[in-house]
Amino acid sequence: MSKKIFEEDVMCRECRAIVQSCEPFKDGFGIVLDQTVFFPEGGGQLSDSGWLIVGDQRIPVGHVRIQDEVILHETTQAISVGTEVVAVLDWPVRFDHMQQHCGEHLLSYAFWKLFQADNVGFHMNPELVTIDLNKEVSAEEVRQAEEMVNQQIQEDRDIHAEWMAHTEAAKLTMRKFNEKITGLLRIVSVEGSDVCTCCGTHPPTTGMVGLVKVLKAEKHKDGSRISFLCGRLALQLINQRMDALSEAARALSIRDEEIGDGVSRQSEEIRQLKEKLHERNQQLLEGRVRDLLADAQPDADGRVRLTVLSDDLEAAEAKALAQRLAEVPKARAVVAYESKGRVNYLIALGAGNTENGKELLQQVNTLLGGRGGGRMDFGQGSAPTQSGWQDRLQKLLA
Ligand SMILES: [Zn+2]
Repeated sequence: MSKKIFEEDVMCRECRAIVQSCEPFKDGFGIVLDQTVFFPEGGGQLSDSGWLIVGDQRIPVGHVRIQDEVILHETTQAISVGTEVVAVLDWPVRFDHMQQHCGEHLLSYAFWKLFQADNVGFHMNPELVTIDLNKEVSAEEVRQAEEMVNQQIQEDRDIHAEWMAHTEAAKLTMRKFNEKITGLLRIVSVEGSDVCTCCGTHPPTTGMVGLVKVLKAEKHKDGSRISFLCGRLALQLINQRMDALSEAARALSIRDEEIGDGVSRQSEEIRQLKEKLHERNQQLLEGRVRDLLADAQPDADGRVRLTVLSDDLEAAEAKALAQRLAEVPKARAVVAYESKGRVNYLIALGAGNTENGKELLQQVNTLLGGRGGGRMDFGQGSAPTQSGWQDRLQKLLA
C-alpha cells in the first residue's frame, strides 16, 4: 500500500518514491510507488496529473486511479521496479481541483444550514461544477447561500482532516454521514462550518478557495441543480463574460451597466422596423401586382399569364408574390429569381385555370437542368445558375 502524502500534507507538490511495480495498463503502463503526492480520482474529485522524473527524463502521468486498493499512476512509458523517481504534481491543476472541491463543501453546507436542502448529486469537470439539491431553492436563496460561502472564504477559516472511529464520528453534527460505513473514517471540518466524511484534497484554509460564484440555478427533478465555479476558474469565467458584455455594449454604443435597457430598446426598435418593413413589402408587392395586371392580356378563355423573372428577389418575397398572383382568377403565375448561385422558380395557378402546372414545371426543369416538383396548381424547383436563363425561360413561357 502506497503512503498517501496528499492526506497528510495537501500542499506537498513533489516527493521522492521507489517504483514498486510496473505492469501494462490500457495503452500504456500502470505504475505503483511506495509513496505518492498524486490524488487518485474518487469521491467526485478529479485525478491529479504531473510527471515522474527519472534522471533527466520527465515521464508524464496523465491519470491516477485506485484499482484493487492500489494507486496506479498511468504513463505511456515503463519504469523498472526499484527505480527511484521524483513524483511531481502539475500544481496549477491540483490547486484548481482543491478550489472547486472545497468550494463544493462550503456551498453544500450553506444550502443545508440555511434552507435544509441536501446535496444529493455532485459532478465536476474541468469547465464546471454542479450540485443537485433535494429541494428547490429560489434565486434569492441562491444569492444568500453564495454570500454566506464567500464570507467564510474571506474569514480564512481553518480546514482540518482527521481520522476517527465511526462511533466517535457519529457523535458529531455532520452534513452527511453514512451510518453503514464502519471503522476509521476521514472527517473533514471547516472551522464553524461544514463537517463531513471525505477522502478528497482540501486547502488548509478557506481563503485559498478565493471565490465561489454560482453561475446558474435550475429546476432539476424535485429540487435544484446549482452550477458554479471557484477560485481561478471562476475569475477566468467572469472575465470572459465581462469581455462579452463590454463587446456587446460597445456595439450598441452604451456603457456596460446599461446593457439590459440597451438590449430591450434595440429589440423594440427591431420589432417596429420589421413591422414597417413588412408593411412596405406588402405595398411593393401590391404595386408589382398592379403593374403586371395592367400589362397582362387575357387570352380567349380569360386566362392571364403573369411572369416575374428577377435577380433581386428573396425566397420569402418570391413565395409571397407567387401566392398573391395566384389569387387572380385563371392566372398562370411564374416567379423565377436568382439567389445564392441558383435559379429558383415557382409556378402557381389561380382558380379556374385548368392548365397542367406539373407539366409546365417539368418543362422548366428540363430547360434549365433543374429539379423540383409539387401539385397541379403549385410547384417549385431550382437549377444551377446559368447565363441567359431569363431569355430562355421567357421564350418557353411565351
Ligand atoms: Zn472533500
